[in-house]
Amino acid sequence: MRLEAITFDLDDTLWDNHGVMVATELGHYEWLDRELAGWLQNRGESGSPRFAERFPLESFEQHRRALARAHPLHRGDFTWLRKRALQEMLREYGLDPVAVEQWADAAMARFLALRHRVTPHPEVELLLTSLGERYRLASITNGNVEIERLTLGRHFPVAIAAGAMLAPKPDPRPFLAALARLATSPARALHVGDSWREDVEPARRLGMQVAWISPHVDDTPMPPGVHRLDHIRELPDLLFHLTGRPH
Ligand SMILES: [Mg+2]
Repeated sequence: MRLEAITFDLDDTLWDNHGVMVATELGHYEWLDRELAGWLQNRGESGSPRFAERFPLESFEQHRRALARAHPLHRGDFTWLRKRALQEMLREYGLDPVAVEQWADAAMARFLALRHRVTPHPEVELLLTSLGERYRLASITNGNVEIERLTLGRHFPVAIAAGAMLAPKPDPRPFLAALARLATSPARALHVGDSWREDVEPARRLGMQVAWISPHVDDTPMPPGVHRLDHIRELPDLLFHLTGRPH
């Protein structure tokens, strides 16, 4: 095939996401609880019960789920849902509107700083460097990592935040937006991602080739155009197979 462009999912494709999500979730919530308690104490307010006692981490998650149900358009915009949930909880905790804004912003800044402490697989840097010399590259994520904030970001002239554009994958729009900006067609593009529902199905329906990163050993035959890989490090072999050119 004549391949012009490659689009990449980020979380669990270029790095393992579970550990960083757990550390981010706990880390920013503990930070908010601790800093807020200190701030209230300095102002001579009791701060009792503590914020995280009044709203344990599970209730934060329930709050976000309820908001996603109430605002279906924003269901994939995780940054929006998080901030809105924090604002509502801080208001209920008794802070005035100015303090609500300040603490919600501060907690979100902390969240996003921790969220970007991802560790790409060691092969990824060299892989993207060499692919970038031959193909146009884009990232398409439903998550809230802004690839521009990572050193890897320089490999992606096009970065699509599908949640923030209110069209999370499997919606085809983020794929179409990426392909339009890369000035190519689905038939000349490959998508690389780990989710069957959010990466493989929509890309395949558009007529793209798909590299499905799925380490689970399974002999189920893949539909045409879908190529299962254990790990992103196997991508050069697949490209050789597809294009007949060594990578
Ligand atoms: Mg993923």
